[in-house]
Amino acid sequence: MTKFFYQTELDDFKATAHWLALRGWSEAAGGNMSIRLDCQDSSLADLPEDDHIKLPVDVPYLAGKAVLLTGSGTRAREIGVDPLPHIGLYKISEDGRHYGWVAGNNNPSMELPAHFAIHNTLERHRPEDKAVLHTHPVSLIALCHMPEFNNGFNNAKTISDKILSMQSEARLILPEGIGFVKHELPGSLELGLKSALELKRHHLVLWQYHGLLATGETLAGAFDKVEVLEKSAQIYWQVLVAGLDPKGIKKAEIKHTLKAFGRLERYFPD
Ligand SMILES: [Zn+2]
Repeated sequence: MTKFFYQTELDDFKATAHWLALRGWSEAAGGNMSIRLDCQDSSLADLPEDDHIKLPVDVPYLAGKAVLLTGSGTRAREIGVDPLPHIGLYKISEDGRHYGWVAGNNNPSMELPAHFAIHNTLERHRPEDKAVLHTHPVSLIALCHMPEFNNGFNNAKTISDKILSMQSEARLILPEGIGFVKHELPGSLELGLKSALELKRHHLVLWQYHGLLATGETLAGAFDKVEVLEKSAQIYWQVLVAGLDPKGIKKAEIKHTLKAFGRLERYFPD
């Protein structure tokens, strides 16, 4: 087997997959994860020309870089025990139009082009975010079935303002709120491209009726943000189920909190 020794990243996959499985957010083979690598490793320098596979979208900012990606049909509950058989290492060609398999699992998630398109955007706009996590948190998906959050106009703002007002620290973690993409074919490049647009400003993007996409410096960091938003959604549902109206924290109080922590400039309430 070609050299495949990215222990820090593999540990990140393992720990995050373990928690995804525990939370019940990645049922069966649902969800996928990737980490972008800066390709300083000389063993990755050359890909045989014959092994190049054309990408359906150009990713110029990934030229010469590599990505670790979960394989198709892999389960979080198994990655959380032993990540190595489930993670593949892929190199992007110097022209940013092709990729090739280098090591590990060689049956990538069908969302490989979407992950690459997202990493391309991150490399350009938020290079510190190396990790991309997609999963299916229950309370957040349930929100998509509520008429209040399904008005077809500005779901991102409606959901951000309501859900992130449920708990005192939630908006501190996500001052910009979240992005939203209307229902698209799972695994499609269209879904990836629309998400990439939203990720220029947001760390989290809710996929209508599907799940959540999160980015972070590590998978654990991306998972942190999913936890914060999902907990806020759980509070919303719990208050609603109790027969009460989850009005949330007032906008003035949210602004006061953000100002106290120096994050008000990242908040766009209107
Ligand atoms: Zn999914």
